[in-house]
Amino acid sequence: MDQHGSYLREMGLIRWRFGSQPTDRAGLPSKPETRSRDGGPKTNSANLAALAREADGCKRCELHRTRGKVVFGLGSPGVRWMFVGEAPGAEEDKQGLPFVGRAGALLGGMLGSLCLSRDDVYIANVLKCRPPNNRDPFGQEVRKCSPFLHRQIDLVQPEVVVAMGRFAAQVLLDSDQSLGQLRGRPHNFGENPVPVVVTYHPAYLLRSPGAKSKTWEDLLLARSLLT
Ligand code: SF4
Repeated sequence: MDQHGSYLREMGLIRWRFGSQPTDRAGLPSKPETRSRDGGPKTNSANLAALAREADGCKRCELHRTRGKVVFGLGSPGVRWMFVGEAPGAEEDKQGLPFVGRAGALLGGMLGSLCLSRDDVYIANVLKCRPPNNRDPFGQEVRKCSPFLHRQIDLVQPEVVVAMGRFAAQVLLDSDQSLGQLRGRPHNFGENPVPVVVTYHPAYLLRSPGAKSKTWEDLLLARSLLT
């Protein structure tokens, strides 16, 4: 079995077969670059790097006192997919990188099932600093930190955002509905609407592998929204 098939098997899912239309290296229909909402990829890359530096020295909320490293995000502007989680955990806080450790490995499997690598996506969290003992983020922390995420979405200009977990979904969609209520249909984020699809957080999938098939449905929904 090839690598794609083994990822799906790892997720406990059947193998997805792509159609016969021309595809790019991620197995997705080829399309020209059409980025128009902000600057070009070069400008956005510079702006994203400046934003990362700003986050690095950020003291807007109390989490700056207990964090190890700021976990800004990983990826380049212009990718088609963006994945958003809740907040850094212990390993992320040590390394300064999002989604490392077991949940990160499972996210890698989810990407692999779509024939994507980490280079093909942008990964970020709502909060850039770890809440002590992984407690739930406070509302004030979210209010202070979410402008970073909003600006990241503006600069990355993804075609689809996958919100992983209840917290990321509720913050991005400004909703108090449950994850179950938000799953299964596309939503919009922002003034230049970006489609958002809600799914389970990889950390939840590690505890509840039975939800992997629903996650796969969500990823296929997200994939169907690519332009
Ligand atoms: S969580 Fe966000 S707002 Fe709070 S200190 Fe870190 S970067 Fe700043």
